[in-house]
Amino acid sequence: MRPQDILMPVTAGLCCKPGGFHIDPVRPVERAVITHGHSDHARPGHGAVLATQETLDMMRLRYGDNFARATQAVRYGEEIRLGDVRIKFHPAGHVLGSAQVAVTCKDTCIVASGDYKDATDPTCAPFEVVPCDVFITEATFGLPVFRHGNAADEVKKLLASVALFPERAHLLGAYSLGKAQRVIALLREEGYDAPVYLHGAMEKITHYYESRGVALGALRPVMGVKKADLAGTITLAPPSATSDIWTRRFPDPVTAFASGWMRVRARARQRGVELPLVISDHADWDGLTATIEATGAGEVWVTHGQEDALVHWCKARGLAARPLDLVGYGDEEESEVVAADEAEA
Ligand SMILES: [Zn+2]
Ligand SMILES: [Zn+2]
Repeated sequence: MRPQDILMPVTAGLCCKPGGFHIDPVRPVERAVITHGHSDHARPGHGAVLATQETLDMMRLRYGDNFARATQAVRYGEEIRLGDVRIKFHPAGHVLGSAQVAVTCKDTCIVASGDYKDATDPTCAPFEVVPCDVFITEATFGLPVFRHGNAADEVKKLLASVALFPERAHLLGAYSLGKAQRVIALLREEGYDAPVYLHGAMEKITHYYESRGVALGALRPVMGVKKADLAGTITLAPPSATSDIWTRRFPDPVTAFASGWMRVRARARQRGVELPLVISDHADWDGLTATIEATGAGEVWVTHGQEDALVHWCKARGLAARPLDLVGYGDEEESEVVAADEAEA
């Protein structure tokens, strides 16, 4: 069976005709298999949704109880039959509950990895290499210039700055699902045990992480805390909040931003980021290429991001490769908008 008869890109997303489902559909469909909770992958309005328990819970937190007509929680490693195919979820290492979806039809296996990273993350299950015939990879950081380095070293820079400027507040922009919790966990691993303050938009999802057994230490809402009391503290906020009038509540804040894009100095300057921290929940160039090799796939489909260089890299190694040209998937960090009711928190 040809791989394109098993999975093919359509306007709604990646369609599995023999299985009767779409993966991470961007439009409402009858049956959706969802890789993780970020809003460009997990959208409301589908008939049935199959996802990990964590992804389902995150969708419920964001969209309310009626985000789908029916849901089915799938565990990592559990095999499910859908129509003429079998699917299996494997950890993607991207955020809590994130999964790669292996779709097998007869003896052809395609792995749709969603977003993934091979770097360590204390807040989610580690990425698992899944041998397959066709590997579908993201390419958010699909250029050789992107090398993320060690996230712990970036967190040390933040702590050094806090020690250097005890009279200033540190305001760290971090995407509220995944990145924020990972940064807090990394701070704890470095021995930082003071309370970490949270913007209101971060509270629900962060407490959800705690409820799933991710230890994050003392957390406090920043709302209602006196300006002077925020000197020498660290507050996490959605990236968009770190550049608006909301920041006036902090004493002379040092603005930091945790993102893979911080490797690009112009981006940091553009956003007025004083302390750029290169911390990403996506694989960097080395991670992408090492993962492609490790899967043993003879064919690679590249999606949302910078496809060209990765397609070229694959072809130079004798692998069949093509961009998928799926639309509707963004860069979650650039697109996070704080809801009006959360903005004042
Ligand atoms: Zn994502
Ligand atoms: Zn994505």
